[in-house]
This record gives sequence, structure tokens and C-alpha cells, in this order.
Amino acid sequence: MTSAMVQAQARLIDSQMSERFKPERATMNAASSKSATASIYLRISSDRSGERAGVTRQKEDCERRARERGWMIHAIHEDNDLSARSGKRRPGFEALLDDVESGAVSVVVAWALDRLQRNRRDELRLYEACQRAGVTLSLVNGADLDFSTAAGRFVADSLGSVARLEVEMKSDRQCRAQEQAAKQGRRSGGRRPFGYEADGVTVREREAEAVRAAYTAYLSGVPLARIAKDWNEAGLHSDQRRFAKGHEGEPSVWTGQTVGVVLRNPRNAGKRVYKGEVVADAVWPAIVAEETWAAAVGRMKGQSPAPRKLARRLLSGLARCGVCGAPAWGGGAARRGFGNYRCRDNYGHFARMSEPVDDYVSNVLLERLARPDAADLMRREETVDTAALHSEYAALRTRLDSVAIDFADGVIERSQLRTITTRIQSRLTEMDGELADAGRVNVLGPMLDADTVEAGWDALSLDHRRAVIDLLCNVTIHPPGRGVRTFRPESVGVEWKVA
Ligand SMILES: [Zn+2]
Repeated sequence: MTSAMVQAQARLIDSQMSERFKPERATMNAASSKSATASIYLRISSDRSGERAGVTRQKEDCERRARERGWMIHAIHEDNDLSARSGKRRPGFEALLDDVESGAVSVVVAWALDRLQRNRRDELRLYEACQRAGVTLSLVNGADLDFSTAAGRFVADSLGSVARLEVEMKSDRQCRAQEQAAKQGRRSGGRRPFGYEADGVTVREREAEAVRAAYTAYLSGVPLARIAKDWNEAGLHSDQRRFAKGHEGEPSVWTGQTVGVVLRNPRNAGKRVYKGEVVADAVWPAIVAEETWAAAVGRMKGQSPAPRKLARRLLSGLARCGVCGAPAWGGGAARRGFGNYRCRDNYGHFARMSEPVDDYVSNVLLERLARPDAADLMRREETVDTAALHSEYAALRTRLDSVAIDFADGVIERSQLRTITTRIQSRLTEMDGELADAGRVNVLGPMLDADTVEAGWDALSLDHRRAVIDLLCNVTIHPPGRGVRTFRPESVGVEWKVA
């Protein structure tokens, strides 16, 4: 049954009802009395701009109906922005039921039946209340339903079923339309994605730049919570706040969690997702390369979901105890000159001021990076050929499919199938890792791009500096030595990870 047919049927029932019951109503109905009071009920399924006008029109039509019939208006109830199928409570509807049940009104005026009802349960509640109280339901876009007669109840019920069918068909149509849009890589509404304009297709450059920088930072080891802080300080706003616990309805405040939601979104790599799966290349431009996005997602999977506490010291957790090898822990006041490091497992191994250690390690690092061959430190990362990896990946997937066909055709045995499949699968898994590596952005880039290495280092955040140290060297902290007042370089070991 098409929508047009449903509407035609609704009109038919409507007109038949009007013809048949008009004379009867004039004599039986409380609503015919000049002194009758009416409550008006208005509903719109969403309050997006433009549809507000719909409520105004409904209201005017309903008021005119009351005026023409000489009914006093008792109250006007309104429900807004609540979908007919969402199951949310409708305060206006409940107030309307109160009016009916308390005997305050003898008429309910609404624009159409589908504006009045939401689901079978509410529909029955209203009908039963109207029936008990002998209230007439007057529809501007329909007819009057007198619930004191069996005929009136029958017609009301038929109209209700038709309206509900229409709602359901509309929902089916929307589902199909959404699926189709997804497979074509198109967007089908929703809130504005961070990094894009409201159309979801045009890139909003300021935000896109922040997203790109966030991927770089995150992949260099900067915690999500730090990125969130930076975004908040930069005055960037998100429409993603509903994801943040305790922030619903408040001005958008980024948290590590909400930044994670943004970075995990495949749309940033130009991928269209439908029901949680990437189904197509999107029509909108990507903000970052697919490898970058995949690397970030891979990194998030490997990390505990609990937000990490931001480190306050350069070497906390990075440096090792020179006696037992346990990580060094940072402590003391955050102010410069009052921090310390100690062995996590045994206070007796070492406990010393952090500042001289930090300065020494930074200087060693800067000296190394200032040498002409500093670029060698990152050569390994740049040799990954992503294009080749992608084509090999595609070839292996095809091979996997064809092996299955060969088996089905009886060309190969089950044991051969298993051997080949296992081999291909393990290579694919390996390649997932390589592709993720390829996306790991060059941590040193910002430093080597600066005028001097020192200037680059100074411009880095604490987390980024920690990432650089983690990438390049192993730091070992030894006890400072009994009674030693001056800093001895040999009490801190710096070993290069890359020759
Ligand atoms: Zn130790």
C-alpha cells in the first residue's frame, strides 16, 4: 500500500464519517452546547527551524475552529521536538488528558489525528478518557468524533490505525533512504561533524587544522586529555558534547573522551559509516590520510579506556632506575625547582631533584639533534611504502576470495585451503601493523622545521617533549652519590635507541 493510498483511505473514512454522523452529533453532543469549553492540543515532531511555523499554523486553525463553534478555550497544550516514535513523555499531552479526566473540558481540538496520538497505548488512553468523560474530539483536518457512540469510537479507531500505518511506512522509507545514501557515500543529516560545516561536506578549515594537528600529536604520544585542554583553550567548540558524561546541555567542553570520539570517526578519512561499518568512500573530502586515521584507532585500541593522568615531569615513567630498572616516578611540587624523581619500587635506590636531570637530558638531546646527521634518527619511519602496502593488501584479499572459489570448485583440497588461508591471514594481520606504522607521524618534524632545534624544543608541550625522548632514547637515573652537591653527568645515562 502506498502512502497516497493510505491518505486516500483516510480521507474516505473521514468523509464517510462526516456524512453519516453529522446530524446525530448536533443533538447528542456536549460540544454542540454554546457554553462548551475546549482544550487545544498542538504537536510537531521536531522543532527545527521552519517547522515552528507549522505549530503556528496548527494553532491558528484550531483557534478558528473553536471560535466558529462558539467554544471557550480552556487551555492550549503543546508538545515540541518530541518524535512520535521516540517514546519520550509528552507534558502537553499529559496535561490534555488531565483536562479531559477532570471534566474541565467537553471538547478537545486538534489539527489532525496523527498530531494527537503517538502510539497505541496513548491513543487508547485518550479514547478511553474521552469516552468516560463524554468528550468530543474535534479535528480541524478531519471531523468531530463523538466518543459517546459506538460508531464514533469505531471511526476514531480506524483513523488511528491508518495514521499509525502512515507513520510506520514513513519510517520504513526513511530507513531505506538512509541505507541508500550510505552506500553512495552521501550524508543523511545529523549534527554538524567537527571539522566540517553543517552540510557535513564542506571542510571548516580552522577545525580541520586542529583535527590534523590532534592526530599528529596523539600519534606522537600526546595524551587525548592534553589535546582536549588545547582545544578548549583555543576556543574550539564541539557539537559532540552529548558523549561527555555530565556535560549534557552545557557549553561544549572537550574531554579526552570526546576528542577520542572525533579522532576515531572514519569520516575524517573520507569514509562513510552505516550501522557501525564503513560502507563506502564518502562524497566529502578526507581531513587526514586513511593510514593516519587507522594508526590512531589502532593506538586507542591498545590503550586502557581509563583517562591517563597527565605527567607533570619530563621523565616520569620514561626514565629507569639505575639500580633495579623500575620506572622513575616524579613527585614534589609542580613549581620549578621543587620536583624530584625516585625509584618506583625502592626509595633507597635513588631520590633526587628533577630539574638538573631534566636540563641535562634536554641538553644531550638538543646537542644530538643539532648535528647534521640528525635526520638519520628518523629514516626508519620514512621508508614505509604505503602505496605498495595497499596494493599488496588488495591482492591478498582477492587471492583469499579466489582460494575459496577454488575449494568450492574442487580444484584444491580442504587441507590446502586451510594452509593457504592461514598463510594469507597472518600476512594480512602483519600488514595491518605496517599500515598503522606508516601512519605514525614524524614526531621530530616540528623540531627540525623550526629555525633552531632549541626554538623547536621550547615550543613543544611537555607531552610532546616526552614523546620525543621516548622515541629517541633510554634514560637511566642513578643515585647522585653520597654527599655530592654538584650535578654529575655520569649519574644520568642517555642511550640512543636508533644508531
Ligand atoms: Zn630501583
